[in-house]
Amino acid sequence: VKYVYSFGAGKADGDGSMKALLGGKGANLAEMSRIGLPVPPGFTITTEVCTFYYANKKSYPESLQKQMEAGVSAMEKIMDAKFGDAKGMPLLVAVRSGARDSMPGMMDTILNLGLNDQTVLSLAAATKNERFAWDCYRRFVQMYGDVVLGVQKTENEDHEPFEVAIETFKHEKYHKDIVDSDLTADDQKELVKRFKALVKQRTGKVFPNDPWDQLRGAAGAVFSSWMNDRAIVYRRKYNIPAEWGTAVNVQAMVYGNTGNDSGSGVAFTRNPANGVNEFYGEFLINAQGEDVVAGVRTPEPVIELKKAMPKSYAELLKVRSTLEKHFKDVQDVEFTIQQGKLFMLQTRNGKRTAAAALKFSMDMVKEKLIDQETAILRNPADQLEQLLAPDFDISEVKKAKELAKGLPAGPGAASGIIYLNANRAAAAAEAGETVLLVRNETSPEDLRGMIAAAGILTAKGGVSSHAALVARQMGKVCICGASAVEIDYDKKTVTIAGQVFKEGKDSLSIDGTAGTIYGGKIKTGPSSIVMGLLHGDKAAQGTEKFKSFKTLMDWCGKAARLDVRTNADNPEQTENAIAFGAVGIGLTRTEHMFFEGDRIDAVREMILADNVADREKALAKLLPYQREDFTGIFKALKGMPATIRLLDPPLHEFVPHEEAAQADLAKKIGVSADKVKSRVAALHEFNPMLGHRGCRLGIAYPEITAMQARAIFEAAADVAKAKIKVKPEVMVPLVGFKKELDLQVEIIHKVAKAVMAEKKIKFDYMVGTMIEVPRGALTADEIAHTAEFFSFGTNDLTQTALGISRDDMGSFLMPYTENEIFKKNPFATLDTVGVGQLIQTAITKGRSTRPDIKLGICGEHGGDPDSVKFCHQVGLSYVSCSPFRVPVARLAAAQAAI
Ligand code: PEP
Ligand code: MG
Repeated sequence: VKYVYSFGAGKADGDGSMKALLGGKGANLAEMSRIGLPVPPGFTITTEVCTFYYANKKSYPESLQKQMEAGVSAMEKIMDAKFGDAKGMPLLVAVRSGARDSMPGMMDTILNLGLNDQTVLSLAAATKNERFAWDCYRRFVQMYGDVVLGVQKTENEDHEPFEVAIETFKHEKYHKDIVDSDLTADDQKELVKRFKALVKQRTGKVFPNDPWDQLRGAAGAVFSSWMNDRAIVYRRKYNIPAEWGTAVNVQAMVYGNTGNDSGSGVAFTRNPANGVNEFYGEFLINAQGEDVVAGVRTPEPVIELKKAMPKSYAELLKVRSTLEKHFKDVQDVEFTIQQGKLFMLQTRNGKRTAAAALKFSMDMVKEKLIDQETAILRNPADQLEQLLAPDFDISEVKKAKELAKGLPAGPGAASGIIYLNANRAAAAAEAGETVLLVRNETSPEDLRGMIAAAGILTAKGGVSSHAALVARQMGKVCICGASAVEIDYDKKTVTIAGQVFKEGKDSLSIDGTAGTIYGGKIKTGPSSIVMGLLHGDKAAQGTEKFKSFKTLMDWCGKAARLDVRTNADNPEQTENAIAFGAVGIGLTRTEHMFFEGDRIDAVREMILADNVADREKALAKLLPYQREDFTGIFKALKGMPATIRLLDPPLHEFVPHEEAAQADLAKKIGVSADKVKSRVAALHEFNPMLGHRGCRLGIAYPEITAMQARAIFEAAADVAKAKIKVKPEVMVPLVGFKKELDLQVEIIHKVAKAVMAEKKIKFDYMVGTMIEVPRGALTADEIAHTAEFFSFGTNDLTQTALGISRDDMGSFLMPYTENEIFKKNPFATLDTVGVGQLIQTAITKGRSTRPDIKLGICGEHGGDPDSVKFCHQVGLSYVSCSPFRVPVARLAAAQAAI
């Protein structure tokens, strides 16, 4: 088996398509090498070795060593240097992880590997730079000691032990703070000695001197880091399966820190925050790549390179265009300039905000780099909601006090109480606070806090620091490198422009699009897309973002086979959804219509009635409310279809449980307080989700069904008379037996006939059912004799198929996700393996009886991209979701069809 894939000197064993085997980084290094870009030579150890490593008690396949030796000797030839050479220039390597999907900053890197007490001397001799050689060696011992040998701060320590050793040394020798670059070669020698002693003291082991021992150890550390905490947290958030594993990349070192004609940088071929077609990135003179991304020194914009190193800048621009033409997507690259010579260390598809993704996709179609279908695929459906996310309220922001500026790193507006530590931020967010995470810089350890925060503000670092990258991907509002922000971690305060803000008490507001920081809270307002679509705002409609969004949605409309409907309970929601492109209502929950005003009293009267006469009296009060609602909805729909579901209320939720409220209600509806109390007690259910709900209500009290049918049809008749097309689809919930549906449908038809006769007008309507209990799905062939349509109620179908209460699963969702019993929350993303089978069975059986049966979904899954894809594949005709998710569903539907 081939475990090692070499690249370099314009050739490569692998290529860009081999991401599963070589990881994203390895595959793209091979690809860059193939297309002639200046890539330092190296090799990739495949992800299969990672799988082997975990399957075999952390050991390696036998043939690996030989293959690595061949890989090293290929590098030696190209570099004209020998690994472990104590005489000439030694070959030094970088060892980096590389998973299939990039996981920025989640895994560990080791640089300068191959240095030891002998090769450091030959490096010094070959480069004629003793200080440089010892600086490299010192950095290597530090990184290797930390990452591979595990010399890290313990719970009782505040600082990394190696950093403490450096500080101690500086004070002993210089009696003051000096920067690392002021340390002499002798200082570095002394530090190497102290570091090694530290390693011995902490681990009991001697620091490995043999480069091959170093290399094997480093590879093992990369494989082990696949299972470290932050990697696991990251994978869980982005649904990366643990079994993918990581590859290991071993690559010849090049140096950006050999003097002022050297440097390192990271760049995006276009602006990943707002999508503008400009070369966008940062670099540091005389620095290694890690210095740039770690956010410790604030780098300079890449355009400054034009002045500092014009030749390299011109070369870099050429690489930029080659990369975009080749990969046909925006790239995120790392580069190093060693004594004026440019090297490309990495390229990958750049992470981007939803706004940037939209602009990239539109621009690249114009530039004829990609076609419309590719453009649709380039917009991640689960990010699209970012475009609908709020900005600051324009009038409020004018009044707010601008304190300082930072780098705009993640667009949007956020306002919240400040926290200076990730765990405390996460805890506060859990307790319901809106929080802003404020740090000097963020490291991958801060991920939990970043996820919990509404926005992230850092004092140091640039737009490509980890904070910025990860924030953008999560769609978080983020400002970086705001140097005016002074943080005191001990006092838990932030000082900006002389003003002091306290953790857990004071608020800041940040505009991640402009990079502006404000004191206090600022109200957030809707995005321009929302303003343009829902409020007809002319200025908003003139923006490029608005126009691009509309174009994208038009393309999606053409590409998709699935229709997208909405779950709406009133005219306003309906109008919003239509503005977003919904083509009808897939679910109106009629019980939601009673939450308004004092309608609830009439409902309570109906529920508490213990005889038909009393119930009919209460129903007569409800009828006009319902008719009015339906009329409004039909008018808003202008002829588009509406699925209206008969009542499905958890009865106990509608009645008051406190004595005082019960007495109050008794007075209002004119019965005794005791009667209310005893009816409430009688309505108590141990398992209300499986109790007297859905069509069971209409079976027990047919007059409720009759009233609802009458309200629907009277509204339909009135609207039809006003010459507006109307087509109600009456839907019966929670059906498991054909007979249940038959009994309800009989009432519905009878009422329809009566209303048509009374109002002297004819209108079309359909009757159908929800498929939301397993028996309904399994007997769909019988049910389809009566049902003209099925709508899958996947909330209840998930609940009943899994036997997991949709309201009570919060308490064990975490352990279920951590143990990967759930890959994703099954109430958010359809369990296609289990629940999906019930759906497929119902489709097949339903069609066997009624070939043209109309099929849709109205559970929450109708707005989830993965679930929409499944709905497309199994041949539903529409999905239905909440109004603000309609664009997401339309995009997902189009992507599923491409
Ligand atoms: C469902 O069960 O999926 C559904 C849409 O109905 P509800 O959420 O109202 O139970
Ligand atoms: Mg349901």
